[in-house]
Amino acid sequence: MAVQASLQKLRPIWVERISRELAAGEGVRAGFEEQLQRFYTLLEQTVVTGDTAWLDPILYDWGHAPTESNLEQADYHVSFVLDRMISLTIDIAGDHLEDKDALELLAAIVPILAHSLGVVIRYEMETRVAHISKELGSVQEKLQVLDQNKSKFISVAAHELKTPLTLIEGYTSMMVDLVQNSEQASMKSYLSGVNTGILRLRGIIDDMIDVSLIDNHLLTLNIQPLWTSHLLNLIRNEFKKPIAERKQTLNVIDFEGSEMMIYGDSERLYQALHNVITNAIKYTPDKGTITIDGRLLPGFVEITIKDTGIGISPEEQTLIFDKFGQLGRADLHSSGKIKFKGGGPGLGLSITRGIIETHGGTIWVESAGYDEVKLPGSIFHILLPIRTEPTNPVMLKFFGNNEPQQTETETSGKENTPTNNSPS
Ligand code: ADP
Repeated sequence: MAVQASLQKLRPIWVERISRELAAGEGVRAGFEEQLQRFYTLLEQTVVTGDTAWLDPILYDWGHAPTESNLEQADYHVSFVLDRMISLTIDIAGDHLEDKDALELLAAIVPILAHSLGVVIRYEMETRVAHISKELGSVQEKLQVLDQNKSKFISVAAHELKTPLTLIEGYTSMMVDLVQNSEQASMKSYLSGVNTGILRLRGIIDDMIDVSLIDNHLLTLNIQPLWTSHLLNLIRNEFKKPIAERKQTLNVIDFEGSEMMIYGDSERLYQALHNVITNAIKYTPDKGTITIDGRLLPGFVEITIKDTGIGISPEEQTLIFDKFGQLGRADLHSSGKIKFKGGGPGLGLSITRGIIETHGGTIWVESAGYDEVKLPGSIFHILLPIRTEPTNPVMLKFFGNNEPQQTETETSGKENTPTNNSPS
């Protein structure tokens, strides 16, 4: 029997059997049978013409048919139906045709059915990828809104806290004046405790303001000539006391390029280095070593800060530069500024990255991993572009040539910042 005649003979049997086995329920059977009839007609056309393009429209419809709920599930619905359809077709041909006719028919249609399966899998995959991209887009939008809310909250909270803190600072300094001449030693020591608390609070509020300036691309730089060696000398002096307290060693190595004049905001760069070195002290046990070195690269000065501390796991190496990058390790929060593993609010490295990037530079960390016993250590790399004129890379990007002036209230007024930009 010719292949076409076999196909004609099998049509009603095929439609009834496939529908019975594969329709999801009575309710959908009529619609499903209609689809099967359409498929069978196109299959016949394909056999006659030898051109699989006849099947493309129905395969396209099937491949793009999955519903939202199907897409939520991991299994590939239509491909599964087509796969079963191929096995059932082989059974039906075997049951209802002579062996020779069955073989002839299957030799003609199995390659077509296999091709159809491949096409449907591709369409179904495309539909699924489009669905996932859409979902991802909406999750990203939600995350962006959350991040904006977080940023707004930080900004409002910091400004609200600043006013009462200024009042407390004022009254405390009056009290300090009052007890200055008194004999009450205990009162003086209580007031010094209050002062330390105020300074820490001021530091946290300043950090919160800096983070919100960076988040909103409002960090302005006061670009002046500067020398890296000068910043590193200030650092060496500033950290003498904490380094001695922790019995650590701080090596500051002179490197090619450290004496070169570059343009940048020395106060902000000092703040950035200060954060990284405070961390190096904090996350290195007593008697450890911190080494500051660097090198001159084409167009850049690289500064490296290496410690012999607990190191950072590969997963955390990028996260620590995000705000609150401490990853919820509340056990590490401490009141000691340089205490071993005394984690802070997790804003330091995010501000540091913001400052370096506003200068057109970049910062990253290298570490073999986190290990409190083996102490693999970490190396922070800071790459700063060598600018020969006082242009402000980010401000030019955002505001053209009309650089906005930083207002008094936005200036964080860091403690211990350098005031003199001349080389040492
Ligand atoms: P924090 O206020 O917690 O110190 P930072 O933004 O300065 O916040 O640092 C984020 C986190 O990065 C720290 O909590 C710490 O887990 C990790 N980290 C930073 N510097 C080092 C370092 N030198 N060695 C090990 N871990 C570090």
